[in-house]
Amino acid sequence: MSVFHPDRLPSLSRLPTELGREERFCDACGESTEHILYRVPKKVVLVYVKNHPENVHATCIKCARSTVLTGEERQRALSQPEDYS
Ligand SMILES: [Zn+2]
Repeated sequence: MSVFHPDRLPSLSRLPTELGREERFCDACGESTEHILYRVPKKVVLVYVKNHPENVHATCIKCARSTVLTGEERQRALSQPEDYS
């Protein structure tokens, strides 16, 4: 694992981290499309925090519409194996 992992660089902590990809239904497209799952930091006062209830988004690769994942879907996304290659 690289020492330049974004999570370890404070200046990059505001950048979303890709968690993985999955097929899910997109309301905007009206069909199942590939979505990129992101963990999205949130700025609280002066710092970005990674752990907040709406920190996992799924973005449709067709229309770029983002959905906030909650509950079981969020837990599943966060438990995906991370790949930094
Ligand atoms: Zn879509």
